[in-house]
Amino acid sequence: MGLDGAVRPAISSPMSSLASVPRPRDQIQGARPPSVERLLGHQVAASLIETFGRTAVRDAVREDLAAIRARAEGVPDEPAILAAVEGRLSALSRASLRPVFNLTGTVLHTNLGRALLPPEAAEAVSAVMTGAANLEFDLATGERGERDDHVEALICRLTGAEAAIVVNNNAAAVFLVLNALAMRKEVVVSRGELVEIGGSFRVPDVMARAGCRLREVGTTNRTHLHDFDEALGPRTGLVMRVHPSNYEIRGFTAQAREDELGALCRARGVPLAVDLGSGSLVDLAAHGLPPEPTVRAALAHADLVTFSGDKLLGAVQCGIVAGRADLLRKIRKSPLKRALRVDKMTYAALEATLRLYLNPERLAERLPTLRLLTRKAEAIDAQARRLAPEVARRLAGRAEVAVAACSSQIGSGALPVETLQSACLVLTQAAGDGARRGGAWPKRMAAALRALPVPVIGRIADGAVHLDLRTLEDEPGLLASLDGLGA
Ligand SMILES: *Cc1c(COP(=O)(O)O)cnc(C)c1O
Repeated sequence: MGLDGAVRPAISSPMSSLASVPRPRDQIQGARPPSVERLLGHQVAASLIETFGRTAVRDAVREDLAAIRARAEGVPDEPAILAAVEGRLSALSRASLRPVFNLTGTVLHTNLGRALLPPEAAEAVSAVMTGAANLEFDLATGERGERDDHVEALICRLTGAEAAIVVNNNAAAVFLVLNALAMRKEVVVSRGELVEIGGSFRVPDVMARAGCRLREVGTTNRTHLHDFDEALGPRTGLVMRVHPSNYEIRGFTAQAREDELGALCRARGVPLAVDLGSGSLVDLAAHGLPPEPTVRAALAHADLVTFSGDKLLGAVQCGIVAGRADLLRKIRKSPLKRALRVDKMTYAALEATLRLYLNPERLAERLPTLRLLTRKAEAIDAQARRLAPEVARRLAGRAEVAVAACSSQIGSGALPVETLQSACLVLTQAAGDGARRGGAWPKRMAAALRALPVPVIGRIADGAVHLDLRTLEDEPGLLASLDGLGA
């Protein structure tokens, strides 16, 4: 949802002096294109060289001449060729990865980069990224250190784990645990938890790739303790539970109790791993949100827990394995740990974000993910009413703007069936805009919003474009971006 087709924004020229270069329709039939050197000697080319450098301009000229020859439709005049060259250069110099306004209503939007980092994390990243850092260096002894040392004690303090490691994402964390602890062995999983998370992460496929044999127990809706009991044997490497994340089974259901399963695994000497997915570090219910299992609660019965760094935790993309020290020692020795490790920027962002959790009283104010999730519907509604006339003025003649109640989602698989009351701006076609109403209009409007200097990403519903304001903090920034629509 949210992300309809991929219409690319139009290229806007950074060089106003060239904006008036004519682009004549008539082309000189049968003529030979000018030489590269001739074009580079042009006065317009000189100003392009000043901006982009000689090599880039020469390459763009060559590319454009090649395109003209390939089209074989005649040769444009020199100003037209140079205008096209400038278009090529502007496109090349424009960043592909850019900030956008996520007004989709999904707070942790995977396609829009999930969690927003707190400023403390951005500062920590900035501090280590352009210089050397003690990433694997123990400042006390002057000896080699462990990169996980920068966050391990914090994770343990916040979750009750004995040890922890960080890898590239939670998918990598699950893969590493399976491979390091249960390669060529059986992994016992409930049939109700053989889920697919986000297309390419399917629990049975990950097991197979990690070299494990899947031992399914129970049924889709009901799995009992005795199902696990009967499956455990000399070939068992691991029992794994997977938080179903993006769906919910309702009705006649049963799952073995966490505490009983934990006791069974301990008695049989088999490790129990839980893939929590989001894995909150705090009790969301205490913040007025729907409850989600915490890492600490899961570790009360499980030996290992895996969770994402950029879901409810609110930090950077990474995956964390936390739990028993002896198991983590084994995992750390795996050559895969080296292949899946993260860099100093990730540790810097994660460490700074985790430190905010040391002051839980201020967490909801300082951690953007929690701050956005806990915004009250009334506050968002007041914001929508305040902004509606401002937005309407900028969309005058194109769209009518109304305020409506709506529901936001947490996103990234967390609490899939729970929604949060929110408010949105509803953009509908203005009376004077275009002949036909409805139909293609919302798509055109959404495309125009995506083409803005800071693209605005909404959601199309009921013939309108909805902008959910739960995630809008930079109001002046949004209005400034919308100013671009007038042009
Ligand atoms: C999201 C999720 C994953 C994948 O985590 P990434 O950090 O996106 O790799 C794995 N398992 C569960 C249960 C999840 O919810």
